[in-house]
Amino acid sequence: MELALLFALLPVAAFSGWWVARRQFASSDARENCANSEFSSDYFKGLNLLLNEQPDKAIDVFVNMLQVDNDTVETHLALGNLFRRQGEGERAIRIHQNLIARPTLSKKQRALALFELGQDYLRAGLLGRSESLFTELLEQGEYRAEALEKLLAIYTQERDWEKAIDVARRFEQVSGRHLNLSIAQFYCELADGFLAKAEYRPALKMCKRALAADKQCVRATLLKSKIERHGGDCKQAIKTLKHVEKQEVQYLPEIVEPLLECYHSLGKFEEAEQYLGYLSSEYGGITPLLGLAEILRHQGNEKEATDRIAASLRERPSVRGLDQLIELHLVNSQGVARDNLLILKELTRRLLEEKLPYRCGSCGFKAKTLRWHCPSCKEWASIRPIQGVIGE
Ligand SMILES: [Zn+2]
Repeated sequence: MELALLFALLPVAAFSGWWVARRQFASSDARENCANSEFSSDYFKGLNLLLNEQPDKAIDVFVNMLQVDNDTVETHLALGNLFRRQGEGERAIRIHQNLIARPTLSKKQRALALFELGQDYLRAGLLGRSESLFTELLEQGEYRAEALEKLLAIYTQERDWEKAIDVARRFEQVSGRHLNLSIAQFYCELADGFLAKAEYRPALKMCKRALAADKQCVRATLLKSKIERHGGDCKQAIKTLKHVEKQEVQYLPEIVEPLLECYHSLGKFEEAEQYLGYLSSEYGGITPLLGLAEILRHQGNEKEATDRIAASLRERPSVRGLDQLIELHLVNSQGVARDNLLILKELTRRLLEEKLPYRCGSCGFKAKTLRWHCPSCKEWASIRPIQGVIGE
């Protein structure tokens, strides 16, 4: 790959070298011939190194062949970027560093070379170096929106959410683009951190800031209800959880388990039956129905639980529904019928064990649990419960 790339680039170098030489020695034919022959020897030297699979030495020859001046800066930048895109980070860094070391660059050219080198470092995982270059550009007032965007990527990788919020806000001002959905997620990350340390008051404050940034943020609502449950206020937690219905119905399966916990601790089974029944008939999905079946079973009403699941399965096949239905039938079955049911139960158990019930809407990444930052495409809040036989 790299060999092919360099072969492709050498004619560009050949042209540039020849052109530079021609401009410098245009007054004398004899000297032009001399320059061409010097260039030719460099060209063949580089080619020879390539053929001997010594690409690093070939780059040295190549870089020396191209004089850095106003005419060849673009060629150097293009070559450096090509290397970076090919995953040849070290080579891209060498070329961009070589460029920056030249005192003849204009302010604009130097800023562009710094920006490119910053991207090389970022790609190579050298976050500290990358951060200082993009900060330098910001101080110079060059490539401000681009530098802020890159700094945002760095702070996200470093999980430095306070700095991420700061640069995201500055990016919004400079670019006129909105990042409120991401900012809400950064506040949720901070809330999560406080929650892990059982610091409920600051955690709640962060949830409120998340909702102020994006009132549709389901994650902030779920976190807020969790904090309220920790504080023993199940009544408020139920109210908060019900708010998800107004935010994004695709996340409704996520509220069923915490709702059940709250209803159980308050002993409000009738209210639970009513609300879960409503969710199930209004939005479908197997999770609210299974929650309802659990409440019915808890009240000793197994017949109704079985009937409701069976009726739902006739309309919408679901492995989780079938698994629960078998479970309910197992209670009252004996002998061969019970043995057969156990075989079926083992089958559904295995199917459910293997399934990945969450999927990223942007890149298709599948996950076992709900994650708010896609590890594959780095999108925020793009992973949702999947629909269909194996999912909802
Ligand atoms: Zn994704």
